[in-house]
Amino acid sequence: MRVVPEPAVGAQSDTGLEARLAAVRGSIADAAGAAGRTADELTLVVVTKYHPAALVRRLAGLGVTDVGENRHQEAQAKAAELADLPLTWHFIGQLQSKKARQARRYAHVVQSLDRASVVDAFAPTEAEPDPRVLDGFVQVNLTDDPGRGGVAPDAVEALAERILATGTLRLRGVMAVAPLDEEPRAAFARLRTISERLRTVEPTATDISAGMSGDHAEAIAEGATHLRIGTAITGKRPDAP
Ligand SMILES: *Cc1c(COP(=O)(O)O)cnc(C)c1O
Repeated sequence: MRVVPEPAVGAQSDTGLEARLAAVRGSIADAAGAAGRTADELTLVVVTKYHPAALVRRLAGLGVTDVGENRHQEAQAKAAELADLPLTWHFIGQLQSKKARQARRYAHVVQSLDRASVVDAFAPTEAEPDPRVLDGFVQVNLTDDPGRGGVAPDAVEALAERILATGTLRLRGVMAVAPLDEEPRAAFARLRTISERLRTVEPTATDISAGMSGDHAEAIAEGATHLRIGTAITGKRPDAP
């Protein structure tokens, strides 16, 4: 009998990870095909929050180019540890101004622009007159609960103007999470009309970041260009640190 070595405690098998990644890529290709689109129009952002840097490294070895994180300190540490990898880091969590100023040192894309104060934190300052230019998405709140992340749909244009005024954020489009109590496709259809409105402010801001593990097919059907997928690829997330 062949003895298969047990993986080290805490390590996840690479074959499991590889199989889940392949399954998600297959599902994305199917959904794209059903919508008359092709998978190469879509950017897969693998959400690696709470997982160790070693997992991100394995994903990069499997061809993943874009990763998403939602906590500043954790993202900063992982980006530093993995600085040798050609990864694009997407920040997808709530930000405060102070952390936003720090996040721009390692992040390439900030998907969670949802308040003027956060947007303004990316503008040049006296101390940092020439900061890095990042890609930015306006996060839209698709629920009726103003406590949720994102700006109200009717405030999207004003925030977009503010983003353009920084000169240091390239406005790429809109981002949203589907509400729990609504059919995701209906919510993503609303996001699509909001995206069309945004383009009247900035015609090149055509991207739509929508769709997670459970609803990426619906998002693709409604025009998503960026998918943020965590657990379907990484397996169960460790508890929040
Ligand atoms: C955690 C998270 C995701 C990924 O969710 P999964 O259900 O694990 O795919 C996507 N978007 C945001 C904003 C998140 O916080």
